[in-house]
Amino acid sequence: MTEQKKQVALVTGASRGIGAAIALELAERGYTVIGTATTDAGAARIGETLAAKGGRGVNLNVNDAAGVDALLDDILKTDGGLHVLVNNAGITRDTLAMRMKDDDWSAVIDTNLQAVFRLSRAAIRPMMKQRFGRIISVTSVVGAMGNAGQANYAAAKAGVAGMSRALARELGSRGITVNCVAPGFIATDMTSVLPEEQKKALTSQIPMGDLGKPSDIAHAVAFLASEGAGYITGHELHVNGGMYM
Ligand code: NAD
Repeated sequence: MTEQKKQVALVTGASRGIGAAIALELAERGYTVIGTATTDAGAARIGETLAAKGGRGVNLNVNDAAGVDALLDDILKTDGGLHVLVNNAGITRDTLAMRMKDDDWSAVIDTNLQAVFRLSRAAIRPMMKQRFGRIISVTSVVGAMGNAGQANYAAAKAGVAGMSRALARELGSRGITVNCVAPGFIATDMTSVLPEEQKKALTSQIPMGDLGKPSDIAHAVAFLASEGAGYITGHELHVNGGMYM
């Protein structure tokens, strides 16, 4: 635990939902947490909470390559290292494949897959120097099971899981673990927009009988970031109430 007090964690999409829960959980556990939001107001909001634990909020669009590089430079200068990267930011643009526009496909692939690679690549160099790092990406049960109307999202999340297994093999000898946490259906703004009928149908597929909470995902991420998970790499941890086993 003393070692973890000095560790620096970057959490993308930390303004709300699962990302906010992860940022707060890591801050509670003694990490210096940099949480990103897509607006200055969002960054200020999450920053207020994180500041009490030595962290801060920053404005970042994960699709802005220059912004990602600038943020990594700033973290290394200000905080002296980066130990944990949590790729959480994500979007959906659901529609059946026959109606899916190229833009619906590429927007989801850009934010949910391309940006995860870009951030992971940027984090590797400092983590290699430290000979320590934890790269944890939030994937989805949909990447493993598929879901009608989410071909773009399923492809992106399955892509992140595959990429993580490749990075785990590449970086294992450098003390860097690379894992994913795959939520099932979690009560956040992302799922609150689903029609009531669809929510009922989804809930009926969950053996534990209810949607999960953002904190369920935050606890799994915190475990994979911890010292105790140091021999786990290339794993996708499913947190879904038994929906997918
Ligand atoms: P949410 O919509 O509440 O939050 C998404 C976050 O990502 C927001 O903070 C948003 O600002 C950020 N974001 C979106 N586009 C961004 C961009 N271009 N740059 C930077 N940040 C951006 O969703 P959530 O439910 O909290 O989802 C968080 C993660 O969990 C996502 O990767 C999502 O795919 C995944 N997930 C969620 C569920 C669920 O049931 N809620 C299930 C499986 C996976």
